[in-house]
Amino acid sequence: MTTHREPLDSVLDTVGETPLVRVHGSPDEVPVYAKLESFNPGASVKDRIGKYMLERMLERGDIGEGGTVIEPTAGNTGIGIAVAARQLGLQAVFVVPERFSKEKQQLMAALGAEVINTPTDEGMGGAIERARELADELDDAVVPQQFSNPLNAEAHYATTAPEIFEALDGEVGAVVAGCGTAGTLMGMARYAREQEPGTYVCAVEPEGSLYRSFAGDDPEEAEYKTEGIGTHDPTTNELFDPELVDEIRAVADRDAHDELKRLASEEGHLVASSAGAASVAARDVAERAASGDVELPHDSVVTVFPDSSERYLSKGIYRSFEEWEG
Ligand code: PMP
Repeated sequence: MTTHREPLDSVLDTVGETPLVRVHGSPDEVPVYAKLESFNPGASVKDRIGKYMLERMLERGDIGEGGTVIEPTAGNTGIGIAVAARQLGLQAVFVVPERFSKEKQQLMAALGAEVINTPTDEGMGGAIERARELADELDDAVVPQQFSNPLNAEAHYATTAPEIFEALDGEVGAVVAGCGTAGTLMGMARYAREQEPGTYVCAVEPEGSLYRSFAGDDPEEAEYKTEGIGTHDPTTNELFDPELVDEIRAVADRDAHDELKRLASEEGHLVASSAGAASVAARDVAERAASGDVELPHDSVVTVFPDSSERYLSKGIYRSFEEWEG
C-alpha cells in the first residue's frame, strides 16, 4: 500500500489511495462521502485502470515490452494509460472524438503518446472502430478496450472499493457513480454487494443519455454537455450489468453545472461536470434515505468525483450555463 510518507520509486506508485471526503450538502443522518480522484498523478480516476490493465496485460503476455497500446478514449483514460505505458516500456496511441477537451489531448501528447482525432458525429463508436483498424495494421499492438475489458471494472473492485470500505470501516449504505464505461460503478458495486448484499447501487447519467434503456425505459436521446459519462449507444456499454443496479438516475446538465459550481464555492472542490452529476444523485439518495423513502443497510452514501475542473477551463466550465461549452 502506498503511504505517501516515504520516497517512492515511480509515479505509478502514487496511483490510488485517494482521499474520501464528506460532502457537506448532505444530511447529517446520512452523510455523502466522495472519493477525490483528481489526487491521482494523471489527475483522474482513469489512472487506476491505466496502471491495472497494462500491468495485467503484460503479466498475461497479451502484449510484450516495446509493444503498442491503442485505445479509443474521451481523454482521461488516455492520460491514465499514457502515464502507465511509458513507465512500463510501452508505446501509446489514442483515438479521441474531436469534441473532447483540448487540455486532455495536450496532456496525452505531453506524456509521449500519439493522438488521432475522429469526427464528433461518429461518437465513441467511430473512435472504437478506428482503434481496431489501427491495431490490425501494427505488430504487437493491443486495444485494451475499456468499454468491454473486464480488467476495467476489476481495477475498481481491487482498489477503489476496498479503499472506501476500509475508510468507512465497512459501513457503506449506497454506492453512486457516473457511468461512462461503467467500470467504476460495476467494480464498486460488485465489491459492495459481496460485503453487504443490500448495498443500494445508483448509476448516474446525463439527461439525453440512454443508460436507462437497460432498465426497460425508453429515454429521449439528446446531446448533453456533461463530459465523461452517458451513452448514445448502449450496445457499446458491455460492462454494465443491470442486475447490480437498483436505480439509473438521469441528471440534467443544468443541475450538474449548478452543483459543480456549488461544490467549488461552498466546499472547495475543483471538480468537473461528471462529479457535479454524481453529487446531485448521491445527495438525492441520501435525502431519500434520511426521509425513509429508500432503505440502506448503513447510513452513508459513497460517490466518486472523477476529475478536476482545471481540465475544462477552456470550455468555460465556470462561466454561466449558457456560456459553458460542455
Ligand atoms: N467522469 C469522467 C470525467 C470520465 O472521464 C469518466 C470516464 N469516461 C467517467 C466519469 C466515468 O467512468 P467509467 O468509465 O468508469 O464509467
